[in-house]
Amino acid sequence: GKNLVEIRDLSLRFRTPRGPLNVLRNVSLDVPRGRIVGIVGESGCGKSTLISSVMRLLPGNAEIVGGAINFDGRNILRLSESEMRGLRGGRISMIFQDPMTSLNPVRSVGQQMIDVQHRERRSAREKRERAADMLARVGIPDPVSRLDAYPHQFSGGMRQRIAIAMALMVEPDLLIADEPTTALDATLEVQIIGLLERLQEDFGCSVMFVTHHLGVVAELCDDVVVMYAGEVAEAGSVRDIFHRPAHPYTAMLLEADPGRISERTRHLPTIPGEIPDLVNLPTGCVFRDRCPHAFSACVEAPPLYPAAAGHVAACHLLASETVA
Ligand code: SF4
Ligand code: MG
Repeated sequence: GKNLVEIRDLSLRFRTPRGPLNVLRNVSLDVPRGRIVGIVGESGCGKSTLISSVMRLLPGNAEIVGGAINFDGRNILRLSESEMRGLRGGRISMIFQDPMTSLNPVRSVGQQMIDVQHRERRSAREKRERAADMLARVGIPDPVSRLDAYPHQFSGGMRQRIAIAMALMVEPDLLIADEPTTALDATLEVQIIGLLERLQEDFGCSVMFVTHHLGVVAELCDDVVVMYAGEVAEAGSVRDIFHRPAHPYTAMLLEADPGRISERTRHLPTIPGEIPDLVNLPTGCVFRDRCPHAFSACVEAPPLYPAAAGHVAACHLLASETVA
């Protein structure tokens, strides 16, 4: 099929002393092959939980209530733990905000890059050559001699490049990136985004890119999913969503941040009000308390309405527009 990943009606909650926290509710989204999908929203919107679900790396108090995560046609929620381990670090790999999450401080970079090739039938020398080649591709100067260096001997930006090299060593079909540029200054961020864009073109993998930075989405992504309070508020191509946002939440975010990379716009803009309590969810549209356009229909939860081809938004305004 056209999509590498299809998430369908995924609902997930965390058991807490206050009661179940409904972190994801009926989340559906597609990650087409060879495309970069940005997943955006404020903290607490469920974006990190969503990618942890795709990796099946959820905390012990998490409970999948329903839905499916289809990866290349197979529901990964039904795979055994050993099948899942086969996918992780193989067809699916991940980069994190802190590159040290995936780097071992007491092993040389070269050794780690050889370790990740443990499933490949290659000689030790070939593996080392591939590692040096990959370091060169992510822009590490003098890669052959740097193979013997340890992670702490590199700057933060260089460490993130190495983490990217490690993730791509296995030529994954899906690269999951969890705010990989958030800890970097704006100059380094621009460099890493440019690097990811180039590498994605070379490797042709699909990317799920979690960020709260709209400038990065505008720069890097093909498609975007805007999440709000554990639901998909809007999804579509970057062009459609930045030029013709259909959900009031997206429109408010874009008004506050037109989506350029600069020091000023490195955080998701704040809009008045708060995310609703995910233990005691309000009835109707979850955005109702903050929405300047709320009207009578909003006491019912909106479904995802089509706004254009490949563009959907969970807002009743779209229903009234089609009637009018
Ligand atoms: Fe606002 Fe109503 Fe649309 Fe929700 S459904 S975003 S409250 S207009
Ligand atoms: Mg591209």
